Amino acid sequence: MNMIDPWGSSIIDYDKLTQQFGIKAFKDVLEDIPNPSKLMTRGIIFGQRDYKNIADCLENKKNFATMTGMMPSGRMHIGHKMVVDQLIWYQQMGADLYVSIADMEAYAARGISKSKSRELALEEYIANYIALGLDVTRDNFHLYLQSENDSVKDLAYTIGKKVTFSQMRSIYGFDNSTNIAHIYTPLLQVADILHPQLEEYGGPKPVVVPVGPDQDPHIRLTRDLATKFSEEYGFIEPSATFHRFMTGLTGEKMSSSKPKSAIYLTDSIKDATKKVKSAKTGGRESLSEQKELGGNPDECSIYELLVYHLVDDDSKLEEVRTKCLNGEIMCGECKMCAADAIEDMFEDLDAKRSDAHELAQTLL
Ligand code: SF4
Repeated sequence: MNMIDPWGSSIIDYDKLTQQFGIKAFKDVLEDIPNPSKLMTRGIIFGQRDYKNIADCLENKKNFATMTGMMPSGRMHIGHKMVVDQLIWYQQMGADLYVSIADMEAYAARGISKSKSRELALEEYIANYIALGLDVTRDNFHLYLQSENDSVKDLAYTIGKKVTFSQMRSIYGFDNSTNIAHIYTPLLQVADILHPQLEEYGGPKPVVVPVGPDQDPHIRLTRDLATKFSEEYGFIEPSATFHRFMTGLTGEKMSSSKPKSAIYLTDSIKDATKKVKSAKTGGRESLSEQKELGGNPDECSIYELLVYHLVDDDSKLEEVRTKCLNGEIMCGECKMCAADAIEDMFEDLDAKRSDAHELAQTLL
């Protein structure tokens, strides 16, 4: 399998991360995946736990599920699109999809009411998922609110029998001031991930959870509890993949709470393209310096946008990278190309959003 490395040396930090926490490199399983996605071949998905089970299902067309959750608390930005792209890919590969709206967690951890969670999830997140191409009308798409899913709530209670407070404190840093509902929420997340294996959902099967590396504590706890309850439920330890986070347009982490760092999917086309044109690049102080020394695509938020979302063709991406490094392309020209691509993407999203909103409202 041809894996391009559009990152140069910046991948080293992620290598350290995998070594520290025992996450395995995704490239180790890439050869076993028929038709891997761009996120996989470009190294954006960099790590995995037990992905061999999922590769086997993909190769031999066996039943498996993909699980993700959302805690609706802000606007959806272009970095969140990565998870949707993965769901769409798994849907195309035949997986059952489970999407949990973590309204109980949002209430316990952030004081967001359950009705507000529902509204935010459907209007901001699910409407965008649909506009981006996820088919929510298929029988194998399951969307639910944690507070309304009795299987998840019952399972969370049951598995809590084999977790102690000291374990929860050491994993999540809870202290004497943490409210009890908040302490309980990781168990709900574990139950979210395990419940597709309950008999009423078709029984034990491989499940993959695509997450950022910050979610690995949940994955480890889930895998530990799957083992502890394997005799009772026949659970298979869930698999996980780990993806890189997008750098914000300002050079810091992209975040919903930092409007200048993020392109929101509901930004106007004018605002979105304006953000692209003022984004931080890896360019030099002057044009003459850039022509002489080249730019640095590995520290460029524009290049990152191209890699994650805007350029489908690998050879085109490599051409941009090479021209940048050789000083044959200037940042102004590059930004114009990215702004044009963002404009196309947002025109498409805008055209689909109104129908997507209507459809989202019918789902719960
Ligand atoms: Fe980034 Fe393009 Fe400038 Fe290179 S030329 S630093 S890829 S904006």
